[in-house]
Amino acid sequence: MEKVLQKLPQRASDKKPENKKFFAKLKRRPPKKLDSIMQELHDQEFERTDCLTCANCCKTTGPLFTNSDIERIAKHFKQKPQEFIDTYLRIDEENDYILQEVPCAFLGQDNYCSIYDVRPKACKEFPHTDRKKFQQISHLTIKNVAICPAAYNIVEEMKRRIPIF
Ligand code: SF4
Ligand code: SF4
Repeated sequence: MEKVLQKLPQRASDKKPENKKFFAKLKRRPPKKLDSIMQELHDQEFERTDCLTCANCCKTTGPLFTNSDIERIAKHFKQKPQEFIDTYLRIDEENDYILQEVPCAFLGQDNYCSIYDVRPKACKEFPHTDRKKFQQISHLTIKNVAICPAAYNIVEEMKRRIPIF
C-alpha cells in the first residue's frame, strides 16, 4: 500500500484532464442507473481495499465537523463542546470546523480510529463513492482520487463502465 500511496498524487494529476472532461459530460447526461452503478462499484472496490492498511484520508486530510459531530464526540469525552473545539479544532476559510492538524489526533499507530463509533459523519461517508447523484460531487471527487486509492480505482472503473459521448 505504501508504494500505491506514494504514486497516487502523480497518477491522479496525470488523469485530471481526462477526469474533468468525464465528469463534465456525466453532469450533463447522467445515466439513469448511476446510483446503482456507483453502489456496485463502491462495494466491489471496498471488498478488495482494506482501509486499515491505508488510513491516508486520516493522515493527510481531515473531515469537517458538524455541530452534531462536535456534540456527540465531546459527550463521548465527557467534555463541553467548546472544550473539545478548543483542544482539537479550528475554523477554516469556509467557516467550517476542521482538525487543527493532520494526521488526525484520533488515529492510532495501528490505523484504527479511537473514536470510530462516534466519528464525524464525513469520516463515515468518505470517499462518498456510494452517495446518490454522484455526479454532483465531481469537484470533490477529482480531489479525492489523489488521496484515496479506492476512489481512484472507482473512478477508473466508472470511466470503463459508463460510455459518455
Ligand atoms: S476521526 Fe477517525 S476516521 Fe475521522 S479522520 Fe480521525 S482517525 Fe480518521
Ligand atoms: S477511505 Fe480511501 S484513503 Fe481512506 S483509508 Fe480507505 S482507501 Fe485509504
